[in-house]
Amino acid sequence: MAKRISILGSTGSIGRNTLNVIDSLQGAIEVIYITARKNVDLLVQQALKYRPSAVGIIDKEAAKIVENRLAGEQISVLAGRSGLLDIAARDDVDIMFNGLVGSSGMEPTLSALHAGVDVALSNKESLVMAGDLINTEKLKTGTTLFPVDSEHSAIWQCLVGEKLDDVRRIILTGSGGPFRARDVNTFSDVTVEEALNHPNWDMGNKITIDSATMMNKGLEVIEAHWLFGLEPNLIDIVVHPQSIIHSMVEFVDGSVKAQLGVPDMKIPIQYALTYPDHYPADWEALDLPAVGELTFEKPNLEKFPCIRLAYSALEKGGTCPVVLNVANDEVVAAFLNDHIPFTQIPQLIEEALDQHEWLENPDLDTISAISQWTTNYIHDQIAAIS
Ligand code: MG
Repeated sequence: MAKRISILGSTGSIGRNTLNVIDSLQGAIEVIYITARKNVDLLVQQALKYRPSAVGIIDKEAAKIVENRLAGEQISVLAGRSGLLDIAARDDVDIMFNGLVGSSGMEPTLSALHAGVDVALSNKESLVMAGDLINTEKLKTGTTLFPVDSEHSAIWQCLVGEKLDDVRRIILTGSGGPFRARDVNTFSDVTVEEALNHPNWDMGNKITIDSATMMNKGLEVIEAHWLFGLEPNLIDIVVHPQSIIHSMVEFVDGSVKAQLGVPDMKIPIQYALTYPDHYPADWEALDLPAVGELTFEKPNLEKFPCIRLAYSALEKGGTCPVVLNVANDEVVAAFLNDHIPFTQIPQLIEEALDQHEWLENPDLDTISAISQWTTNYIHDQIAAIS
């Protein structure tokens, strides 16, 4: 019987790849719900192709257009953030695929787990902000998180058949982004276009900027902590510019397992949907002689302070990762809109971390209050700069 799925963020880069994977799985997965922020044309096109029972669209004006275009199609339209949360909380699916961007993805993850639905998680920000709450909810409802992030999918695959007790450390690989070899003294001149030009991965704008600052790797350290239960000092980062090794696990006897593949998100997406099986796929296979060289470097924390900020937020815990994540969402948006220079990204995040009132073990209300504080703080700082 086909697995029933909801896809949050179906018109984004990850959502579109997920639908491509579902096409190639030929009937193994049935699309029950899809949601978008405001891309009317693509959402309607997807709705007519996959015939979900409902679609969600956050932008309320766009929702009116979608409703008109889908009139008479027996597909309901849910509008606004409340429509998205309604779909996320539905229990008539087997998997909720969370392809949302940024902090907005956290609540839907918790809602799905609460409803007893397994989650395929591309939205790493969910775990950064509420890893503890998510793990508690998972335990309570006996649900599972399937990692979609390529590094975490790699570690997950390396751990199949292994015991966590036998793990000495995990090694997250990162490409180093577009500025790995660029002189740090020119970072204040970085343009949006340069930052969006990732050498290996084709991804959405937010995560591409996170790759350029290497905050993406920092967020992934926090994500790995909550997914695999390892302390921060057991999670290392190695820069690997070719993006062929997607991450590694080192065992107590010094044996190291790695997972390799072409840098294509369809592979980790498919594994999250077909776990524990590997299904045949006809996309490009890895050609090692064509790749030639695999190289490795230490990450440069002077050049990429976001990595240091993320480790320190994880070590301090409590509200720090929330502030780190929300501040990052806000400054990345400001950089993309040309409101701040590239070098202000880590500076403003660090200021927000220093200025906020730290609390231990935040519940959902505290997370939401501290998120609001962080948004306001960053907006005020940016208004003062520009
Ligand atoms: Mg990743």
